[in-house]
Amino acid sequence: MNPAPITTSVFDLFKVGPGPSSSHTIGPMKAAFDFRQRLAQLSDDELQRTDAIHIQLYGSLSATGKGHGTDRAIVAGLLGWQPETSDPDELLRLLKDPTVTYPVQVRDRVFCVRPEHIYFNRKRYESPYANTMVLQLTGAQGVITEEEYYSIGGGFILRKGEPAESETSRSINLPYPYSSMNELKAQLKQNKLELAELMLANEMAVTGQSRKEINQRIDDSLEFMHKAVRRGLRHKGVLPGSIKLHRKAPVLYKQARGLAQSSDSFLIFLNAYCLAASEENAAGGIVVTAPTSGASGVIPGLTYLAKHHFHYDKTTLRNGMLAAAAVGFLVKHNASISGAEMGCMGEIGTASAMGAAFLTYAAGHKIDAVESAAEIGIEHHLGMTCDPIGGYVQIPCIERNAMGAVKAYNAFLLATSGTPSFQKISLDSVIKVMKATGRDMSTKYKETSEAGLALSATEC
Ligand code: SF4
Repeated sequence: MNPAPITTSVFDLFKVGPGPSSSHTIGPMKAAFDFRQRLAQLSDDELQRTDAIHIQLYGSLSATGKGHGTDRAIVAGLLGWQPETSDPDELLRLLKDPTVTYPVQVRDRVFCVRPEHIYFNRKRYESPYANTMVLQLTGAQGVITEEEYYSIGGGFILRKGEPAESETSRSINLPYPYSSMNELKAQLKQNKLELAELMLANEMAVTGQSRKEINQRIDDSLEFMHKAVRRGLRHKGVLPGSIKLHRKAPVLYKQARGLAQSSDSFLIFLNAYCLAASEENAAGGIVVTAPTSGASGVIPGLTYLAKHHFHYDKTTLRNGMLAAAAVGFLVKHNASISGAEMGCMGEIGTASAMGAAFLTYAAGHKIDAVESAAEIGIEHHLGMTCDPIGGYVQIPCIERNAMGAVKAYNAFLLATSGTPSFQKISLDSVIKVMKATGRDMSTKYKETSEAGLALSATEC
């Protein structure tokens, strides 16, 4: 059987929600919300026999969930909050006072959730994914019902027993199915299509929305990204958490404006834009996953640059976003975009490859150059570890977004100077290498903060 085609929506890849980590914040919030909905389906008899909700966290959710705000996100989801409409300030207030209890109403029953109902388990739990959470409803006789969820990166979740995307995707009738870059290129050639047209046609089939609606949603996603950049350029001070890291974006922005004629100013502007969005993410602000929250500074920084420095119009920006989405889909489908599965090459590496594809396609280049740029973007992030200090999405994450964007820019330059077909490694091959490297990488380097930079915390 051929691999199942990709049926992810552009707007599942570019998701609006609160930072700082899509797998630790958006995913758990969605899982808790789903659990709450399922509890409402229980019979009266079952509900009467229950008295408490317990949340078991495993893997990287347990190791770095505190720093990433996983506990707050779960309480928010149980209270019925959704990532795209949550107020970041209210979210930050949750669990601040350990004596406060949070009433979770399920029909006529109210369950009081407190911090001690959330367990950051250190023991190993047999599960197919690194980020696992088990939500339980208990009574006098023990567990009455439970659901096991996996947060698989970028805010995507799976529930145990639910068909994976590869199984459900076969039922969607896509006009141009593909599961690899090779198949995507074959579809473009056979149907004499441009990449953006193919992506739009598939998106219409996946979402059932019109071209106009999809274009508007892409514009909205860009606006959410750019709002995060603008907020980050204004906000000064220290980021939340024990590291006491100072925000840097406003300083860089001021510096770049003062250097308008210098050759460095272009890079400093780009650094400022990427840091601005990433610092907003670290502060728990509303960001857009691209493809994750940890990596939500790369595409906003590059698109902000393209809009305000290159003066690209809306259509060019939209087309570039669709090219970026195509690359994000291929990595998500054939490897993983999760730091807990792939290390940082899955997050910043993917974002950088998406950014390279955005720049290349928006500059008017064809699919071979887009592939080449994305391949270079991933190739030079292979093996990059995820070891955030203190479990906060701050060091190395914030600067890493700026570095990912600069590499994306250079990947674009390298891919568009010379003949793309001379590129020896295909995008499909490098994604396979990423997957194999991620599997070989010790879990110590996959968002657990047990090694690497995370151990230098005492120096901070
Ligand atoms: S090091 Fe990279 S993968 Fe890990 S949390 Fe930071 S941005 Fe995400």
